[in-house]
Amino acid sequence: MSDLRSLYQEIILDHNKNPRNYRAMEDADRSLEGYNPLCGDHYTIYLKLDGGVIADISFTGSGCAISKASASVMSTVLKGKTREEAERFFVLFHDLVMGQRDPAKNLEELGKMAAFGGVSEFPARVKCASLAWHTLKGALEEKTIAVTTE
Ligand code: ZN
Repeated sequence: MSDLRSLYQEIILDHNKNPRNYRAMEDADRSLEGYNPLCGDHYTIYLKLDGGVIADISFTGSGCAISKASASVMSTVLKGKTREEAERFFVLFHDLVMGQRDPAKNLEELGKMAAFGGVSEFPARVKCASLAWHTLKGALEEKTIAVTTE
């Protein structure tokens, strides 16, 4: 387990230091801001939709390592996925960080998302990890008011 733990730590550090899809999207179909006032995390998620498919996804903003790495991993997971798949991943991730899913039993399905399984032991960090996902969900639902974790 300790090897897995350090691998997970590496994934989070890597995605924090070199976030993927970290850019504003000029021609986005949807964009939405999300705040986590408890930690000071603040991001904007941008989406380009092609029918029911997330053709492109990017984000900007700042916050702690967990929130930024989570937004980065999310963007790599969801690019090219359908809306339904995105909603299924949302539930998977939610259950994972709430400690309702054993990452060891769902490694293949979770992929790099499994790195956030340890967050479930730290309730304050759950909001950091799930901020980008809640913001994404709001954008898919065409919300226009910023999402906040409070
Ligand atoms: Zn945070």
